[in-house]
Amino acid sequence: MSVRILEVSKDVPVRNRIGMFTLRAYLIAEGPHIDTHLAIFKGPFVNPVPVRINSACLTGEVFGDRRCDCAWQMWEALRRFETRGQGVMTYHPSHEGRGIGLFQKIRSYELMDELGITTREAFQELGEVPDLRTYGAATAILKHLGVTAAQFLSNNPEKIKALEDSGIEVVGSERVVMDFDSSLVHYLQSKAAQFGHLIELPTFMLGVPEAEDLALWPQGVGDHELGIAHEVADRPTATGA
Ligand SMILES: [Zn+2]
Repeated sequence: MSVRILEVSKDVPVRNRIGMFTLRAYLIAEGPHIDTHLAIFKGPFVNPVPVRINSACLTGEVFGDRRCDCAWQMWEALRRFETRGQGVMTYHPSHEGRGIGLFQKIRSYELMDELGITTREAFQELGEVPDLRTYGAATAILKHLGVTAAQFLSNNPEKIKALEDSGIEVVGSERVVMDFDSSLVHYLQSKAAQFGHLIELPTFMLGVPEAEDLALWPQGVGDHELGIAHEVADRPTATGA
């Protein structure tokens, strides 16, 4: 599908709990669709640049829902950028619910809860394609920013392939797995089994009780700010989940 950048905003500073970043908005036409896409980054860049392609997840990122690890992955990527002094995250509001949109995503949650099925099965139940996302806008933004080689932060082989197909060299890819919260075991397993994500879970998540997971929560991502401290403390154990 043809991808065209129609308009680019000026840069605006973003100061958050991790550090200082720059935000830029892009209006991009992908075939017949015109959507806003964002880049939040820390520069100046020296290739290879740490890169993340991040799909919007309002329920996790805004409301702190612990059904998925999207919000954690987003903050973790920014934390790695801050540590390394550079990085780019492209952020895609139109990728909500793997592209099916917020309304259908909430309906998929309803089905998952009612029927005890996985994301992929719920999407099938709704008559939706399991993953509608394309990454042309993301790679157009990365190229526009001058990224020619990426140290890629992702568990998703589809995204790695998209970068390579666009001509951006993937020098390395590193996992971003929230592997210390046992309540996510089934979710992460279904991501690995049904969407091919590269996820290996530590043994404690597969039945051995853990003790140190809270200590592993990255510094700088304040649970209290996400409003989930209580939920983390009370989460079910691996054996009880
Ligand atoms: Zn999510």
